[in-house]
Amino acid sequence: MSEPFSSPPHPQPLCSRRHLLIRTGGLLALPATGLLHAKPPSTAPTASTAPPATPTVWPHALQVPGGVARLSLGPAATRPQAQVRQAEVDVPLLVVGDASEWTAVLGIALAAPLGDAHISVAQADGSGLRQLPYTVARKQYKEQHLQVSPRTVDLSPEDQARYERERDHQAGVMTTFTTPPAGQAPASLRMRVPVPGRRSSSFGLRRVFNGQPRNPHSGMDIAAATGTPIVAPLAGQVIDMGDYFFNGGTVWLDHGQGLLTMYCHLSSMDVRVGDVVKAGEAFCKVGATGRVTGPHLHWGVMLNRTMVDPALFIPA
Ligand SMILES: [Zn+2]
Repeated sequence: MSEPFSSPPHPQPLCSRRHLLIRTGGLLALPATGLLHAKPPSTAPTASTAPPATPTVWPHALQVPGGVARLSLGPAATRPQAQVRQAEVDVPLLVVGDASEWTAVLGIALAAPLGDAHISVAQADGSGLRQLPYTVARKQYKEQHLQVSPRTVDLSPEDQARYERERDHQAGVMTTFTTPPAGQAPASLRMRVPVPGRRSSSFGLRRVFNGQPRNPHSGMDIAAATGTPIVAPLAGQVIDMGDYFFNGGTVWLDHGQGLLTMYCHLSSMDVRVGDVVKAGEAFCKVGATGRVTGPHLHWGVMLNRTMVDPALFIPA
């Protein structure tokens, strides 16, 4: 808790180790703290609405980098197929609803450009794709500039090679897209909080070490003692486990249609790849493995291969 800057940075973190547990008066209070208006307006619109205090849909829509867009696809007898173009690849989207109305739930990357964008939806009559526009508004995330010993920034050649192997492996895990059989998809995407504890609001925090910007923090850190059980926030299937250089003991769960969750720095992984876990079922334990300075859960939530803010999926 007292030494948030002491761990060394790394080049391409999936999980940037330990972060300041910044208190801003509650997660849903974040947009009201003035962060969104900290900079002069740009050409892109600024997010003007906070998530509702008692939302009726999950996840909340917040069309900013690192947020989620909910785009109505209208009525259709069967679930429409929708996709988004990311890094020159067409990535399928999560689509929820029923014949009366379908909704595409899109993850917006932290690095997404502001302004106009679109997804593509397959026409029911097979006549091709139609474009459905949406807009990405500005959200100003915090930035920290730190001066550290160069030795703590640079990895040894061995560690760098290991890190690159693990990064490539996990990039493959992130492409998982499974379609649950009809009727077996979760009725709601409202998630349980995976472990009780103080939650950071450091999603999106960007650190600059010795003038070199690192990837922003792409998950939520929850402080808890080593050994505290972690429960599945939704029903899911274990699709990957490992002991990774930066992330330590790590489990990935697949909740269907590209909705994945990731758990890092674990002290214990009580499942195997292929296991199915129920919502609320304990499956791993908090630890301090990987590059961390103290025990906590790093929790990542991914839609369409894009890490989004877990706070949008859980009650405040
Ligand atoms: Zn973290």
